[in-house]
Amino acid sequence: MTVTAIVGANWGDEGKGKMTDVLAAGSSYVVRYQGGSNAGHTIINEYGKFALQMLPSGVFHPGVSNVIGPGVALDVETLLRELEVLQEKGVPAPRIFVSERVQVVLPYHRLFDQLEEERLGARSFGSTRRGIAPFYSDKYAKLGIQAGDLLNRDRLERRLQHALESKNILLQHLYGQEPIQAASLIPQLLDWGTKLRPYLRDTTALLHKAWANGESILLESQLGALRDPDHGIYPHSTSSSTLAGFAPVGAGLPPYAVTNILAVVKAYSSCVGAGPFVVELDGEQADELRRRGGDAGEYGAVTGRPRRVGWFDAVATRYGCRIQGATAIALTNLDVLGYLEKIPVCTSYELADGTVTDAFPVGAALDDCKPRLEYMDGWHCDLSDCRSWDDLPAAAQRYVAFIEEASHVPVTHVSIGPRREQLIGR
Ligand code: GDP
Repeated sequence: MTVTAIVGANWGDEGKGKMTDVLAAGSSYVVRYQGGSNAGHTIINEYGKFALQMLPSGVFHPGVSNVIGPGVALDVETLLRELEVLQEKGVPAPRIFVSERVQVVLPYHRLFDQLEEERLGARSFGSTRRGIAPFYSDKYAKLGIQAGDLLNRDRLERRLQHALESKNILLQHLYGQEPIQAASLIPQLLDWGTKLRPYLRDTTALLHKAWANGESILLESQLGALRDPDHGIYPHSTSSSTLAGFAPVGAGLPPYAVTNILAVVKAYSSCVGAGPFVVELDGEQADELRRRGGDAGEYGAVTGRPRRVGWFDAVATRYGCRIQGATAIALTNLDVLGYLEKIPVCTSYELADGTVTDAFPVGAALDDCKPRLEYMDGWHCDLSDCRSWDDLPAAAQRYVAFIEEASHVPVTHVSIGPRREQLIGR
């Protein structure tokens, strides 16, 4: 019996989708517990290539129950569209359960996201404009709408009217827009309710039962440790906790149910959006790494934006693993580095006053850091056909051992390509 949180140790885009898809084969449940449609998990399998934004990454396994837990920002239209795409590509209809308590991203959350980014102009956070920050703001301000509310017209109208009282003041006086009438949204929201009804459940009761029966459960995170609002690079963070500590809360399980915390770590660094990124490369070095990274270059799975890239950052990764409470590491994208004779790695930071640190700094100190690099021997060959630890060249094994030592966490999986079979257990 295991409950495993699959989380990112870096800035996101570490390859959690691939790892979840692979590990789902031995699990009964895959649960999304936070975040919304603002990031995509890329999965390549016998059905094709997918960038799942709302669906849990267990949907390609007919025996797996996929749960959207109360902590998620549910984008109903994205969910329904993704289900259609699966059907079009011949994926057997997945088993989906959506928490009655999960809150829904409303059309005006997207509008507020866009208006605020426009208002901020050059100071914007590079939001994906999927409404996530306005959604979570409303949730904690007690202005949100739960999925179960979509089935009750009276309650829905009351809740919407209450929320719109303050939303409309902002719309008119901060953004110079027309106010929104609750009545104009009701038909669409009731329609969402009708379409969601077959999936709505008390998923907390469902998961507690599965846990009590000793079934294996994966808790799938979105984004990475450094985007956590409490422990990450605030304010360049996301709006829900990306940490394994939040996984049982957002999913609906007891905290002590989680047995394993698998931190997905990338063999180099990538970061989408704004914020401090100490190891960032530019020029030809960056272009080459970006071109060779991931399954088709390092470009955002949702936005298509080029990702910022850099060498492996031991300072940030050790911190990321620590705040995740990682019990094991899945190291991904090792194959990408096969073109290098020498592989630079960042082992410490130099602060503005010249002090050297291996602790991850906060605020202004982080903004002004410079990376201090060391160089590992490259293996200079293609790893994508390796299938066991012994197949890996000695230099690649040494690189994995270095990451293990730098992170203080054992590396149990090494991924050497985007496909399911390109994975080495250790
Ligand atoms: P996630 O959000 O953590 O699931 O990560 P993304 O899907 O946004 O980005 C990870 C990228 O790396 C995707 O393009 C994956 O197909 C790709 N990927 C995952 N593992 C590997 C690997 O071991 N090697 C290579 N080359 N690509 C990988």
